[in-house]
Amino acid sequence: MTQRRKAVALISGGLDSLLAARVVQEHGVHVEGINFYTGFCVEGHTHAIRKKDKAKPKRNNSLWVAEQLGIKLHIVDIIEEYKQVLLNPQHGYGANLNPCLDCKIFMVKKAHEWILENGFDFIITGEVIGQRPMSQRKDTMPVIARDSGANDLLLRPLCAKNLPQTLPEREGWVDREGLYDFSGRTRKPQMALAERFGFEDYAQPAGGCCFLTDAQYSVKLADLWQARDDKNYEIDDIMLLKVGRHVRPSPTFKVIISREEGEGNFMQGYRNQYVSLRTTSHPGPLALIDGEVSEQNLVLAARILARYSKGKSMDSVEVEIREMDTNTRCINVAPLDPHEIKPEWIL
Ligand code: SF4
Repeated sequence: MTQRRKAVALISGGLDSLLAARVVQEHGVHVEGINFYTGFCVEGHTHAIRKKDKAKPKRNNSLWVAEQLGIKLHIVDIIEEYKQVLLNPQHGYGANLNPCLDCKIFMVKKAHEWILENGFDFIITGEVIGQRPMSQRKDTMPVIARDSGANDLLLRPLCAKNLPQTLPEREGWVDREGLYDFSGRTRKPQMALAERFGFEDYAQPAGGCCFLTDAQYSVKLADLWQARDDKNYEIDDIMLLKVGRHVRPSPTFKVIISREEGEGNFMQGYRNQYVSLRTTSHPGPLALIDGEVSEQNLVLAARILARYSKGKSMDSVEVEIREMDTNTRCINVAPLDPHEIKPEWIL
């Protein structure tokens, strides 16, 4: 009896990885999924707390993909290890702070270590030549295979026919004829294949699988590094960059102001780590202070917050300042005039 081969598929939650894993399942291979959590993933709570995202499914798409495929999913936290990838990418950044090539190399390397530890035979990714400008190019795809150490144990079923044969093909674990030759940025072949497999409700690709491809997010991250004079971050930092309006009136501090109720609720969970402000005389958002909490900075933060409250046209607004130890006091401030909020303050 021939041995049933085992492969692990990198599952991002998007359509390509869903299809790649499904294609290999058709070849009789036992497939399991692996999802790496960097902290920068787009999905999850941001869709749940923003009104503008309310039409998007509030689900973890990688788990949804695993359910669609009927496979086991391994979710691996790589937050700490990933810092070195983001802070010192050997191949540099893409259009924003996305180190896509180093990121892909790192994830395939981790997947390679995983298959060696778990007795699996090869790795599947949903990469397509020409699909992404940095990591999915004809010249960079061999770099990922080589620098990750996976070499010809890395199979890309959606574009395998455009690439040299891999070990799973040479050994007949999968039939090369049953693989694909997709290339370029068009999504039509993937959509046709999804239809063939009966997948309808898959996540729409949004230009990248993480916040690092987002220009506004990258500006906020670069500002964080500059303000602290340290290119480092903790998970709370990168979570808070995903929510609120970030206003930096001085290099010493910034104010994070919730833009809607869901963000305010989410930010309340951080009130034991940051001094927080809320307007008490008028309805308004919640603000957190990140940086130096001097009296001068607090008054300026309160005036900025008052500008975003219902009392913005009043002469005076009462603002409650809450210390991290829950001590509170109130001050009365005049809301800043719109022209006093300089455009360069808004990150
Ligand atoms: S978009 Fe983000 S997760 Fe995807 S390859 Fe680039 S850096 Fe990595």
